[in-house]
Amino acid sequence: MSKLSRIDPLVGITDKLKRPVRDLRISVTDRCNFRCTYCMPEEIFGERYEFLPRPEILTFEEIERVARIFAVAGVSKLRITGGEPLVRANLTDLIQRLSSIDGISDIALTTNGYLLPKFAEGLKKSGLSRLTVSLDSIDENIFKKMSGRPHGPKNTLDGIRLATELDFSSIKVNVVVQRGVNDHTLIDTARYFKGTGVIVRFIEFMDVGTKNHWDLSQVVPSSEVMEVIDSEFGLESVAPNYEGEVANRYRYKDGDGEIGVISSVTKPFCGNCTRARLSTDGKLVTCLFASGGTDLKSALRSGQSDKEISSIITNIWSNRVDQYSALRSNQTNFEAYTKGDKVEMYYIGG
Ligand code: SAM
Ligand code: SF4
Ligand code: SF4
Repeated sequence: MSKLSRIDPLVGITDKLKRPVRDLRISVTDRCNFRCTYCMPEEIFGERYEFLPRPEILTFEEIERVARIFAVAGVSKLRITGGEPLVRANLTDLIQRLSSIDGISDIALTTNGYLLPKFAEGLKKSGLSRLTVSLDSIDENIFKKMSGRPHGPKNTLDGIRLATELDFSSIKVNVVVQRGVNDHTLIDTARYFKGTGVIVRFIEFMDVGTKNHWDLSQVVPSSEVMEVIDSEFGLESVAPNYEGEVANRYRYKDGDGEIGVISSVTKPFCGNCTRARLSTDGKLVTCLFASGGTDLKSALRSGQSDKEISSIITNIWSNRVDQYSALRSNQTNFEAYTKGDKVEMYYIGG
C-alpha cells in the first residue's frame, strides 16, 4: 500500500459550495434486527428481501484503508452506522483498527441498542468514543409499533444504562418524531433521561429513501417539539458545541441536562454539511438524499494505489453540489419534489 502525505490531492479540498470534508459515516451492514416503519418497513423488508451478498460488502481491511485516506485529508471524526452495525460480526475489531489511525480522534456509533447489553463494554474497550442510541419511545406499545418488532424497549434501555456506567464521552438518544405515532410520548421520553447525562435529540421525520411512505403531514416541526418540552420542564437555548452542529441545543433551566432538536425538514443545514458517506458495498455517497454513489470498491479491489483512490475522492468531493434539503424547502410543490429516486437510509446510515 502506498504512503499518503499531507500533500495528497484530497488535503484542503472543498466542494462547489466551499464545504470541506470533515467527517465520514461508514455503513457496515445493510441488515438490521429491527423493521422500523420509517426506515425498513416489514412489508418490503420481509423474509424474502435480498440483502447484499457477502462478497459485495467491504471487508474491515477495505474500510480501514478508506478511513486512512480520509484521515490524511483532515477527517478526524468517524461514525459507524448501518443497517444495524451491531449485527456485523466482530465489529469491535473494526473499531480497534479505526481508532489506531493517525488523525482519527473521535469514533461514534449509531445503534438501535438492542444488542448493547452484550457489546457495550467491548465497544468502549475497543476505542469507541461516543454512542448514539435510537429509541423512539419508552412506551412499550409505541416502541413495538415503530420498531416493527414484538419486543419492547427493555434491551435498549438496559444497554443505555450499562453504557452510562462506562464513561463514553457522550451518550445521545435519537427520537424520530412522527405525528400521530409517538408525538404524545415525547415528554415521557425526555423525563426518563432528564438528569441522567444522556442527551435526547428529537429528529424531524425525513423523506429519506422511497419506501417509508413519508408525507409532510407526519412531520412535527422541531419548534413544536421544543415548545412542548419547554412548557413541561422549562428550557433555554445553548450555543452550539462547534460550527455546523446539526442539532439545536437547549438546556433544562433547573440544570438537569440538555436536549437537542434536529430540524432537517423545517430548517435545513446543507450549508454546513461536511459529511461523506461510505455505503456497505463501498460507494461514496455525498448526500443522504443522493440517488446513488461512486464505486470505490472496484478501485480498492483492482490494485489502485492510495493516491489514485484519493484522487477519485477528490474529484467527487470537489464537484459536489448537494443541498437537497435546502432546495426542497424552496419548492412550492414540496411533496412532489420528495418523490424522486433516492438511496435508502439503511444502506448508507443516518
Ligand atoms: N440501526 C441504527 C439505528 O437505528 O440507530 C443505525 C442506522 S439508522 C438508519 C440511523 C438513524 O437514522 C437512526 O437514528 C434512525 O432513527 C434515523 N432514521 C432512519 N430513518 C429516518 C427517517 N425517515 N427520518 C429521520 N430519521 C431517520
Ligand atoms: Fe434498523 Fe436503524 Fe433503520 Fe430502524 S432505523 S430499521 S434500527 S437501520
Ligand atoms: Fe447534507 Fe444532503 Fe442533508 Fe443537505 S440534504 S444536510 S447536503 S446530507
